[in-house]
Amino acid sequence: MSNRRGPDFETRMAGDEEIPPPPQFVDQATVTDDSVYDEFEVNWPDCWDRAAATLDWFDPYESVLPDDEPPFEWFAGGTLNACYNCVDRHVEAGAKNRVAIKWESHLGETRTYTYQDLYREVNEFAAALRAQGVEEDDVVTLYMPMIPELPIAMLACARIGAPHNVVFAGLSADALATRLESADSRFLVTCDGYYRRGSAIFLKSKADDARLKAAHDLEEMVVVEHLGETGHLGAGQHTYDELVEAHAGAEVAPVERAADDVLFLIHTSGTTGEPKRVEHVTGGYLAHVTWTSQAVLDLKPEDTYLCTANIGWISGHSYVVYGPLALGTTAVMYEGTPNYPERDRIWDLIEENAVDVFYTAPTAIRSFMKWDTSLPESRDLSSLRLLGTVGEPIDPRAWKWYYEHVGNGTCPVVDTWWQTETGGMMITTLPGVKKMKPGSAGPPLPGVGARVVDGRGEEVPANEAGYLVLTRPWPGMPLALRRGHRWGEDAAKFDVDGWHYFTGDGAKVDDDGYVTVLGRVDDVINVSGHRLGTMEIESAIVGVEGVAEAAVVGGNHEVKGEAVYAYVITEDGYEEGEDLRARIIEGVEDAIGPIARPEQVVFTPELPKTRSGKIMRRLLEDVANGAELGDTSTLRNPAVVEEIAAKVRAQS
Ligand code: ATP
Ligand code: MG
Repeated sequence: MSNRRGPDFETRMAGDEEIPPPPQFVDQATVTDDSVYDEFEVNWPDCWDRAAATLDWFDPYESVLPDDEPPFEWFAGGTLNACYNCVDRHVEAGAKNRVAIKWESHLGETRTYTYQDLYREVNEFAAALRAQGVEEDDVVTLYMPMIPELPIAMLACARIGAPHNVVFAGLSADALATRLESADSRFLVTCDGYYRRGSAIFLKSKADDARLKAAHDLEEMVVVEHLGETGHLGAGQHTYDELVEAHAGAEVAPVERAADDVLFLIHTSGTTGEPKRVEHVTGGYLAHVTWTSQAVLDLKPEDTYLCTANIGWISGHSYVVYGPLALGTTAVMYEGTPNYPERDRIWDLIEENAVDVFYTAPTAIRSFMKWDTSLPESRDLSSLRLLGTVGEPIDPRAWKWYYEHVGNGTCPVVDTWWQTETGGMMITTLPGVKKMKPGSAGPPLPGVGARVVDGRGEEVPANEAGYLVLTRPWPGMPLALRRGHRWGEDAAKFDVDGWHYFTGDGAKVDDDGYVTVLGRVDDVINVSGHRLGTMEIESAIVGVEGVAEAAVVGGNHEVKGEAVYAYVITEDGYEEGEDLRARIIEGVEDAIGPIARPEQVVFTPELPKTRSGKIMRRLLEDVANGAELGDTSTLRNPAVVEEIAAKVRAQS
């Protein structure tokens, strides 16, 4: 944003409600003492010992953080192996028969891997990769859907010190080619294909296309036969089974990795523009995600845990694979989408597996709400102990629906703010300690430095909006930030004293230090000089009865500068039309004021979403402005943008 004073959005979002941590939860929670916040303050950075202590190190580190200037060498001198921490140590500790991964296909097939099974599979595949010529520090790209071979391949890579580069299976051949190049990766593991909503998608043919498109040659390609439709394999191509069978019973010693050796590469979701490549390192990252899995998700070894994130994104890396497995938990991995074959599939999974902890995204919660509240209510979800959300701001109405109808008012909800670039959670409540405020993520986690500043880098007063910056290094920080590099838009943005990282998000902090994330700073609308956050207007709109979901953007307006355009999805059983439109306008005027009154309300069956499920507002802005549509290639549902554009043309 060009405004030097900062995004002083009008912030009158409801959300004054406070909910104490449920006592029955606190009674059993791992972290229950408020003193943890002070302890981290007083002992910073040595407090992060507490995170590192969740892991087994080969060589102990000499210092938690030798210097508070870049390069930040978290846990310098320490060595460890991520695979050893996620697999071997549980087997050695006598938990070999505990289930590590329970995989549920969308067609009802299940596969169960105990920690011993996982140990065997990972070792065999690690041996196979080595035999294919993969050496330490070679990057192995994994272009795979949600099948057990994906976490197995990740752990096998970690075992031999080969960074993995997971590419979400829903991305195109072009996107894969770009990511192979950006990672300089010559090894690819993929699969023949998979089912999505009942139809087969052939992944191997996309991988073959990418192989031709990539600027460099691939040395080896491994194909998991998931559909049994692999067909012809060319030179340098092998099936997964053939390789693993050739190494049956093999054992590979876990490679000792330095704390800041790269564990994996990943790309951001591309919501705001070009996806960025991010490298996460072994020690700090693993300590960060394991500690937060324990302190925030409250995961314990005996828990069964379901996270709906796809492993193709950072949430799946950190909180489907690494954090939960490092703690020795049972992770349920679901292959399909929440509405296939039926809209109660997730509640089935929770009931059948007696899931203790459930972590999902606001986009899923809004769909559950829209579908039918009686679906979760008709199930026995009493095994649930804690609920989490990540990925986008969650409006208070969706928050409360989740809390009441899924959590039955007895499970804390953790609204976890973090990014691909942070590796793990940064801002959220410690559920056994802090009260919850629907709509607000919570205070920064112990040891995390977060501030909301204006365009000059000065802290803004409480309850005023500004830019969210992180002001202290954290263990899960990626390689670029460790070394003092920045990404484009972040470089030299503010004159904040000392080291800092600009998150790209707008936020406000209340008198209790709770951070409410208001959305991307680029998603601010300037109506007659009033700067409004899209998130607040959306919150007001979804507070109106009959509205399931809403996206708000600014469109050019001769008088006001910008005007509010609202795109609205109705709840099942409600009619689009003048009555609802009037109630929406009234709802916004009541919650925020006439200044935020939508110029246009457009009803639509869908909103344009990225493959990771986030609303892509920049395209809706193009629609509002009658401009040529920007790049739609990272969209899950590109056709919907044209449909919406046609509606807008018809209305105006
Ligand atoms: P790109 O950086 O390529 O535009 P992206 O930011 O969507 O893509 P991610 O790293 O997956 O990629 O998403 C992080 C962003 O998601 C955060 O910066 C924030 O905008 C949003 N976000 C995540 N969790 C929350 C949350 N609990 N509350 C509010 N916003 C959240
Ligand atoms: Mg981002």
